[in-house]
Amino acid sequence: MNFIDTHAHIYVENMIEDSDNIIYRAKQAGISKILMPNIDVASISPMLSLTKEFPNYCYPMLGLHPCDVKDDYKTALDAIFSQFSSEYIAVGEIGLDLYWDKTTLNRQIDAFRYQADVAIEKELPISVHVRDAFPQMLELLEDYRGKGLKGVLHCFTGTFEQATQAIDLGFYLGVGGVLTFKNSGVDKTLANIGLEHLILETDSPYLAPSPYRGKQNEPSYLPLIAKRLAEIHHINIEEVAKQTAQNANRLFKLS
Ligand SMILES: [Zn+2]
Repeated sequence: MNFIDTHAHIYVENMIEDSDNIIYRAKQAGISKILMPNIDVASISPMLSLTKEFPNYCYPMLGLHPCDVKDDYKTALDAIFSQFSSEYIAVGEIGLDLYWDKTTLNRQIDAFRYQADVAIEKELPISVHVRDAFPQMLELLEDYRGKGLKGVLHCFTGTFEQATQAIDLGFYLGVGGVLTFKNSGVDKTLANIGLEHLILETDSPYLAPSPYRGKQNEPSYLPLIAKRLAEIHHINIEEVAKQTAQNANRLFKLS
């Protein structure tokens, strides 16, 4: 079986020190590629060191995370995108997060637009973070309808209606550890969404799937998420692996 982890911050401090073991366990678990969303200026360097150390296995994205959109975000965006090169497979992670701070919505929107425009210009997909902001994000994405913007709503936790709207806008839904949590409700939503719209992710080191909930997440746990997705769709895990890897390869233009 061959899985693609489309969202893993394995360059963070606690993980990068142990990267040989983490990558070894990922390969043992059938993970064939790991896609790394960037978060700020400082994360670029450790992320690129993994890209270099594990070529054709760890792939980088370039972007400013909504929780890192601070007062100086324009400087940060310029610093980040001045480093653009053809090795980046996506713009991410970008988006809206109103869980931690609602007062920064306007500048989060501004940063999102800047980065969405880069993605369109470079013909790259975007990896989108949405927390407590699905209506605002969908409204924003509606502005881009027909303009060639595509990507994934990573760690999707919205409603069925929001899922169908996102799909209609040209987006995939990222399925992560939350699917394995009891009473998350995501299982009921995703049971009614065709596999052709879904890709898998761990969001390591966060959101470890059950039974590792609360512990440090890592790409080798991805099959636990795939297994749950197979259960709710009444198909086997091989089919989940095959279809979601195909979707991820297509979206991120990987071979
Ligand atoms: Zn993330």
